Amino acid sequence: MSSAHDDENGQRAKGRGVLVTGASRGIGRAVAAAFAERGDRVAVHHRDSAGQARELAGELPGTGHAVVQADLADPGEVRRMVDAAAEALGGIDVLVNNAGIFLSHPVTEVGYEEWQDHWRRTLDVNLIGPANVTWCAIRHMPAGGRIVNVSSRGAYRGEPDGPAYGASKAGLNAFAQSLAVALAPHGIAVASVAPGFVETDMTGEHLKAPGGDAIRAQSPFGRVARAAEIAAAVVYLASPEAEWASGAVLDLNGASYLR
Ligand code: NAD
Repeated sequence: MSSAHDDENGQRAKGRGVLVTGASRGIGRAVAAAFAERGDRVAVHHRDSAGQARELAGELPGTGHAVVQADLADPGEVRRMVDAAAEALGGIDVLVNNAGIFLSHPVTEVGYEEWQDHWRRTLDVNLIGPANVTWCAIRHMPAGGRIVNVSSRGAYRGEPDGPAYGASKAGLNAFAQSLAVALAPHGIAVASVAPGFVETDMTGEHLKAPGGDAIRAQSPFGRVARAAEIAAAVVYLASPEAEWASGAVLDLNGASYLR
């Protein structure tokens, strides 16, 4: 699972090649930083945040990092992006399917057109996107590797205002478990994390709003997760030691929802 790669100065950079989707902010940014801190080279994927992605890649410790771009809802862009990441990293050892969207569409409130549009967009980014990224990435993992999907507590607890989101993450869990079996003979372990509320750009407004205290009270710890806590678990599941966690979905929700 380890590889080496010549950086632009011709020096051998050690560590693994790690592709993190949606890495310009939030959990993905923390995940990119956690891998770089342990000596890995990271391909920072973004959709339309080139400035933020370049800034992060420049700030990450170590060398050999790259920035790659794609709309994950576009299969052609996905293939080009994954190939570019593999080229820049000298292969892919670890894929983190992190990018995702949450669209609010309560079933009793939205019109039929909006309902369909939100389902399609959510599944395109949260489920079919990672499926396509994975198809492309494993072709750059001839010596084995690790795949970690960022799922959600909502896959189990339900998402009354975003049913497509909950279903997309439940689908992502099932996808990961299918691939854990299919890819084990190829030395690739596949696992997932299922966070509850995490303080990020995606949730910042909710946490500041009057309902913020109620969100924090969901956990008996009286707080939400920090992105770095999710990143630490992703790094573990991507480690050589975590092969036996293949197929697992790790709850990271501060005991806010037990299953
Ligand atoms: P975020 O909105 O800060 O980051 C999501 C990233 O995905 C962004 O970089 C965004 O550009 C990218 N993205 C969205 N649509 C894309 C597309 N079409 N193509 C390419 N990239 C796209 O959110 P976050 O909170 O950091 O969430 C990261 C992951 O964690 C998501 O999968 C989310 O569902 C999951 N998650 C988050 C929380 C939470 O409370 N923040 C809880 C559980 C799970």
